[in-house]
Amino acid sequence: MTDKESYGFNTLAVRAGHRRTAEGEQGEPIFPTSSFVFASAAEAAARFSGETPGNIYSRFTNPTVRNFEERLAALEGGERCVATASGMAAILSTCMGVLKAGDHIVSSRSVFGTTVVLFNSYMKKFGVDTTFVALSDISAWEAAIRPSTRLLFLETPSNPLSELVDISALAQLARRHNCLLVVDNCFLTPALQQPLALGADIVIHSATKYLDGQGRCIGGAVIGSEALVGKDVYGFLRTAGPTMSPFNAWVFLKGLETLSLRMRAHSDSALHIARWLEQQPGVRRVNYSGLASHPQHALATRQQKHFGGVLSFEIAGGREQAWKFVDATRMVSITANLGDAKTTLTHPATTTHGRLTPEEKQAAGIGEGLLRIAVGLEEVEDIQRDLRRGLQAAGMR
Ligand SMILES: *Cc1c(COP(=O)(O)O)cnc(C)c1O
Repeated sequence: MTDKESYGFNTLAVRAGHRRTAEGEQGEPIFPTSSFVFASAAEAAARFSGETPGNIYSRFTNPTVRNFEERLAALEGGERCVATASGMAAILSTCMGVLKAGDHIVSSRSVFGTTVVLFNSYMKKFGVDTTFVALSDISAWEAAIRPSTRLLFLETPSNPLSELVDISALAQLARRHNCLLVVDNCFLTPALQQPLALGADIVIHSATKYLDGQGRCIGGAVIGSEALVGKDVYGFLRTAGPTMSPFNAWVFLKGLETLSLRMRAHSDSALHIARWLEQQPGVRRVNYSGLASHPQHALATRQQKHFGGVLSFEIAGGREQAWKFVDATRMVSITANLGDAKTTLTHPATTTHGRLTPEEKQAAGIGEGLLRIAVGLEEVEDIQRDLRRGLQAAGMR
């Protein structure tokens, strides 16, 4: 589908970006080729000079990768998408494409752990400093902005505490201070939240999570304007080479076809489980933006179509009880990944946030009794039964 008619989300998810070949295929083809062939020396020269468009080499462009890029760009409502080898490659390519030595980043403190390492250990080596602020505190963002600030970076809702920020408010702040707002939209995907429509400049994805949806491949993407993403980010990507393979692009492309169905099912089950957990004795707090008890529930309802599949909860006691809970489950997978059809369970304090000092954990709200679930697509009663075994083992029931 390549026409300009305006189609709805699910139609784009199923059809956008496929240019049917002369074979008349119904399913999107995979092009596992490193280079492309020219009809003549003159055509090769015209392609290389940029005089005529077209494929040259798969580090630059590949038809299957482009199919994925066009489909995801359509879903996020962006002019241009570039696919990358991983979510981290998407963040790195954005930084390398739009920043220079002396620039400054203001980032939410509650972003993916490896993103913090990228900013603190690697971007810093090249003269880019980062200030971390509390996600929801707009005045803290404003106070951290310097004349050299070029990028504001965040995830909303945050992991694992499900804190939110008002994307429109931060977009206005970014515009006032001439910075770019970059939103890692991994947790909700365009099916539930569209940051570009709320004023963000760039959206980042770890396609590894919900875009794949079945825990198969590593990949990422950057979406935004032709000038920023098509020129600056793509320019870095085609030169440095953290590109997506055509095989992975095909898996993600097929994943997009069921994205909104899956996100709705993940969200429905997560809401059910969050409400149930809230009723359980020994559960001190449930962090999920779909709960009426969530301090930013009104913002979540306004900014998101639903609340996503990830929630966390704090049980009474500490590490011992939390580990007993984890070890008593039989079905859910003990793994830190998320966005899979299979439910996953993790103890953040000793895994994803294990490298933080006790003080840093406390500041970040990562208690020893905190557990995170990424609710999958199994029968919700079966997930609940497994969690009940955990509560029993931890002495909560
Ligand atoms: C997993 C993740 C990343 C990193 O993605 P990879 O594909 O593992 O490189 C970035 N941001 C968020 C929010 C993630 O969950």
